[in-house]
Amino acid sequence: MRVNYVLGNWKLNNQRKDIDDWLEVFKHTAKAGVRVGVSPTLGYLDYMSGKCEGLMVGAQNVSEFDQGAFTGEVSAAMLSDLGVSFCLVGHSERRQFFQETNEKVADKVKGLLSHEIIPVICCGESQVEYETGQAKEVIGAQLSAVFSRLEVSQLSKVVVAYEPVWAIGTGLTATPEVAQEIHQFIRQFAGDFFGSVAAQSLSILYGGSVNEQSAAELFAQPDIDGGLVGGASLKPTSFMQIIEALS
Ligand code: PEP
Repeated sequence: MRVNYVLGNWKLNNQRKDIDDWLEVFKHTAKAGVRVGVSPTLGYLDYMSGKCEGLMVGAQNVSEFDQGAFTGEVSAAMLSDLGVSFCLVGHSERRQFFQETNEKVADKVKGLLSHEIIPVICCGESQVEYETGQAKEVIGAQLSAVFSRLEVSQLSKVVVAYEPVWAIGTGLTATPEVAQEIHQFIRQFAGDFFGSVAAQSLSILYGGSVNEQSAAELFAQPDIDGGLVGGASLKPTSFMQIIEALS
């Protein structure tokens, strides 16, 4: 049995007052086999830590370096010290605006694993790549950079998030069928590296304008193990309904 996740990506939103208001409304109900978490900006990780029982706190980024003269960076060891449970890597916004290459993503994944933080490896194609039928090729290249550096025993310790770039923050969601086809491809691709039994242990989340209306149908697909939720995770009631949709 693999773990299901609903993870919120707050991006560059929510200061202390907003976090307090969010926590005032959000009620976490534990569900067997489901892990729930949110990722505030780095500056508020400590503030969020331990505020809500059962709610994991995650980071949106980590340095590929352990320590040294790297102004403005935060290491995996520091995230671990702050009690962080998971960390996004390779989000399309970081690939686009902060030169996060496939190799950097792989370095970050290794660093996080060495501190027992779950890397959430984001992958996905752009609109042009989708329209020209290159989605699987692009995702394969993104994931092979990471998979080629993992041991088979580490596959159940990472999470992959398929996030078509054209669906992030646009209100466009991949249809459940399109998302399932890519998720199935990702699982097979993992199987090519690690064997099909190990690939069954890999949790693969869908991200891209997931909301309380679209969540249930997406999560009902056999290879979709939950969601990475941006905009809708800022509203605690919507986020709770999305968690509810995952059974
Ligand atoms: C994201 O940024 O990871 C994301 C999925 O955003 P949204 O849900 O707003 O499309």
